[in-house]
Amino acid sequence: MKVLDLHCAQGHAFEGWFGSEADFQSQLARDLVQCPLCGSSEIRKGLSAPRLNLGASPSPAAAAARASEADAAGTAVAAPPSMPMGDAALHAAWLRMARHIVANTEDVGPRFAQEARRMHHGEAEERGIRGQASAQEAAQLLEEGIAVLPLALPDAAKKTLQ
Ligand SMILES: [Zn+2]
Repeated sequence: MKVLDLHCAQGHAFEGWFGSEADFQSQLARDLVQCPLCGSSEIRKGLSAPRLNLGASPSPAAAAARASEADAAGTAVAAPPSMPMGDAALHAAWLRMARHIVANTEDVGPRFAQEARRMHHGEAEERGIRGQASAQEAAQLLEEGIAVLPLALPDAAKKTLQ
């Protein structure tokens, strides 16, 4: 499994999980890789310029917290790992997207990997799902050609809808 640092034409940085470099290139060629903040499919890989431009690199503690959040969530979208918390507009955009995901996906909780497989094999209706998957489960799904991406949904996005 490959975790890539990606950024879009507008400079939003986010993380993408792919089965391999070839999977990334193939999804990129089909415009399947999109910025979670603005939806742009002009995605570039590599040194994350926005992080450098912001002048503040995430502390090791913050990076570790992000990694554990990513392990706990298996929703089929990407999270912007380097979102500056001080940027209210960007934060609002991220929260809007998170709410959109919550509103448009079915929470299957710990059955995420099982449901993703059933949909992949045509045994269940194709739909957007979110839920929990371990990093190992996510890696297995990717190896089977099932697209999953990590996302740490902000609590605010969930509370609003309950
Ligand atoms: Zn963007």
